[in-house]
Amino acid sequence: MALVVQKYGGSSVGDARSVKRVAKRIAEAKRAGNDVVVVVSAMGDTTDELLDLAQQITPLPPQRELDILLTAGERISMSLLAMAITNLGVKAKSYTGQQAGVITDAVHGRARIVDVVPHRIRETLNRGQVAIVAGFQGVTQATNDVTTLGRGGSDTTAVALAAGLNADVCEIYTDVDGVFTADPRIVPAARKIDRVSYEEMLELAASGAKVLALRSVEYARRYGVPVHVRSSFSAHDGTRVVAAEKKSKENAMEAPIISGVAHDRSESKITVIGVPDVPGMAARIFEVVAGAGANIDMIVQNVSAAATGLTDISFTLPDGDGPATMAALTAVQGELAFDSLQFDDQIGKLSLVGAGMKSHPGVSARLFGALRDAGINIEMISTSEIRISVVTRADSLDDAVRAVHTAFELDASDGEAVVYAGTGR
Ligand code: ADP
Ligand code: ASP
Ligand code: MG
Repeated sequence: MALVVQKYGGSSVGDARSVKRVAKRIAEAKRAGNDVVVVVSAMGDTTDELLDLAQQITPLPPQRELDILLTAGERISMSLLAMAITNLGVKAKSYTGQQAGVITDAVHGRARIVDVVPHRIRETLNRGQVAIVAGFQGVTQATNDVTTLGRGGSDTTAVALAAGLNADVCEIYTDVDGVFTADPRIVPAARKIDRVSYEEMLELAASGAKVLALRSVEYARRYGVPVHVRSSFSAHDGTRVVAAEKKSKENAMEAPIISGVAHDRSESKITVIGVPDVPGMAARIFEVVAGAGANIDMIVQNVSAAATGLTDISFTLPDGDGPATMAALTAVQGELAFDSLQFDDQIGKLSLVGAGMKSHPGVSARLFGALRDAGINIEMISTSEIRISVVTRADSLDDAVRAVHTAFELDASDGEAVVYAGTGR
């Protein structure tokens, strides 16, 4: 008998009919003799709708209240799912993150799980029942307030519970058949990846491939949780996220250089124009940026024009961090004596990810060549050991992804990738 943690994303439980469909799958897994723990997300676009609602009340909702509001989405789906499973003759009980023992730090809106104490889940399993857990939420011990884990956080709940319960597998059910070489919504010729290493998946997730939330991959790697990403709409085998040694042992011969192309539309660019080119300026600027709580991604500093002794510094950051960062920099314009600030939210980022890059020369040249042939201008470049990222205009990002996917011969020759549901919001 296996202990299976199954996570169903919002796109898999979009309406009452889908909840019943998913309930059938869960009942089957239980009847096959498994112990089953289910983590569920809010139905469809509920979380976005709740956020929109809060925005209509106030532009800056108190973080604590926003978290309480958002956890309501997962409470709706968990209870409906428990009803649907019970209807099929299988006993099921639903639990909030707090009841399930998901303990987090106190950072509202992007809390980190610090411990999982799933006593009630174990008791439920011991009674032969299915345990349903609301994803994306926990409780902070200091104040007993509820917290949320950041967008896509149900993936992290599932992996953390799988680790805490020592589950045999954590199955992530979504609206595509697994992790593909690019987002199937943009590249219909994308190919499903059978196995991907934690490291490659980390880079893909960090670069915008939202099929798995970044923190869930970090958690899975740290605790060695076997993850299987698959569709709740088909019976196809999906993608296994595994340790690199395991992956290379099994297909050393045909290990591809590139595992995939990720894209991200959720960042903005700030340029500080006319910065005096003297020691300490970058340090001051980024102290101010850090003070505003921004998580910066890429940074580019131009060579100063010799005549003026002035330079420009550009950096990218999540859209949401833009206003506070612009305000903080504007406040020190006099002190730092730069000319002006520019804010640009019309950028897109493309990232090419693959462990094989380390040992294959010419990957960057091929990437830049593909973008040149597609007539796409590169605004910024950054690299890691197994990733190259470029910033382009937002409106040429989709074309860029398709061009690069083709240039690295990732296009499938047989059929198109299926997107079963979801609005992709
Ligand atoms: P869920 O509601 O199940 O959590 P998400 O919308 O969060 O689903 O994630 C699934 C979506 O991720 C897919 O519909 C797809 O558009 C998107 N996606 C982005 N990059 C990839 C990729 N490389 N492989 C598969 N899906 C991807
Ligand atoms: N409902 C939350 C979100 O939309 C969490 C999740 O879906 O994983 O981000
Ligand atoms: Mg998701």
